[in-house]
Amino acid sequence: MDFTLSPTAEAFRLRFRDWLELSLPPEWRSYAMHRESFDEVVRVRREWGKLLHAGGWAGPSWPTSHGGLGLGIDEMTAYTEELVRYGAPEPMNANAIGILAPTILKFGTVEQQQRHLPPMLSHQVSWCQGFSEPEAGSDLAGLAARAEHDPEAGVYRITGQKLWTSRAQYADWCYILVRTEADSRRHTGISMLLMRMDQPGVEVRPLRSIAGSLEFNELFLDGAIAEERDLIGNPGDGWKLATFALSNERGTRMVERALKFQKEQSTGQHDLLQHLEKRDQRPGVVPDALAQAHIDARVVAAMTHRMLALTSEGAELGVLPSMSKLVWSEGYQRFLSSLMHAFGADGLTQTPPYDAWQDRLLRGRAATIYGGTSEVQRNIIAKSLGLPSSAAR
Ligand SMILES: Cc1cc2nc3c(=O)[nH]c(=O)nc-3n(C[C@H](O)[C@H](O)[C@H](O)COP(=O)(O)OP(=O)(O)OC[C@H]3O[C@@H](n4cnc5c(N)ncnc54)[C@H](O)[C@@H]3O)c2cc1C
Repeated sequence: MDFTLSPTAEAFRLRFRDWLELSLPPEWRSYAMHRESFDEVVRVRREWGKLLHAGGWAGPSWPTSHGGLGLGIDEMTAYTEELVRYGAPEPMNANAIGILAPTILKFGTVEQQQRHLPPMLSHQVSWCQGFSEPEAGSDLAGLAARAEHDPEAGVYRITGQKLWTSRAQYADWCYILVRTEADSRRHTGISMLLMRMDQPGVEVRPLRSIAGSLEFNELFLDGAIAEERDLIGNPGDGWKLATFALSNERGTRMVERALKFQKEQSTGQHDLLQHLEKRDQRPGVVPDALAQAHIDARVVAAMTHRMLALTSEGAELGVLPSMSKLVWSEGYQRFLSSLMHAFGADGLTQTPPYDAWQDRLLRGRAATIYGGTSEVQRNIIAKSLGLPSSAAR
């Protein structure tokens, strides 16, 4: 993205860049996770989280009173731009820091903030998110996992199944949505609990993704315990908390995604030109589809810029997050498919740079699913235009 940041943000950028230059290990720059085992990827992501914290650069959006950097939008953009420029790995707790922490800060007790936020930021404790279930993905209000309150023991006992729980096999804690009111339906009677993963009644079964790694899991819960003091907000507040938590996901990830799309799109053009030169084909013949990717990446950047501008004015974003998620995810997938198509048979070999593009192509399939599927985004946009939504499956 190329909009002008304030002089303060540019000064901040230089300080952060100096630190990254000194502290980000060279082997973690342009980090190629497809060449590592998932265990190693997780180790690196955890170590990187610890390093950021030790250097005083963790929690960019957190208030300084909780150990964060308290950055405004301009500085936050510079921060993300530098991380993307260096190709740094994503810290292990990025989701918890960006999604759960704001929820605990807004709705949690002081005791919960003091007990859970510092070890999350320092990466002493790893988190996973237990929202989706076999019959409750897009339709999260259909969730069935339940928790019975046992006031004498001061605990909730959780039973049910979660699905697609990313990195649950490495997590110490899970923030989980459960029904705490018997016979409650849809958006009512849901609560958010914080639950330890290393206890009887929690079974994690890894699932292999299309990209080959064991990055998400099934989670089976049979009487697992969450303490009363780990209920966020009041019983039955779960839907409100989940909506708030997920709105953070949509907003904060778009800057990073827009920047990565632009970067990968220009790397892709470069790799394709080299590929054509090696084969004595006319360099400069870039398929229309790649020109389209360039346009898509610019459109996503412009939409992200608009969201940042509105946020800084304190204005509502309306359906912009849905529009930009849709344009980004579908444009990104189109770009990866056309690039692989242009590589031809070479694209299938396990040599650089083709192996990296294969990995991006496979991982990129998830982009139109997580954070709200394309159909769901279209329904949101349709509703805002007064149009009917498409029928569910
Ligand atoms: C890489 C990855 C990581 C994830 N990590 C986590 C995690 O850590 N924790 C967690 O809780 N979840 C996680 N998820 C789950 C994710 O939130 C769900 O996959 C997503 O919400 C979609 O739900 P689903 O897979 O059950 O699909 P479904 O909701 O069953 O949808 C199936 C299909 O039907 C369509 N459809 C559904 N409803 C409608 C409708 N009303 N109108 C039109 N079409 C419709 C969908 O668009 C989709 O094409 C992850 C997913 C992925 C891909």
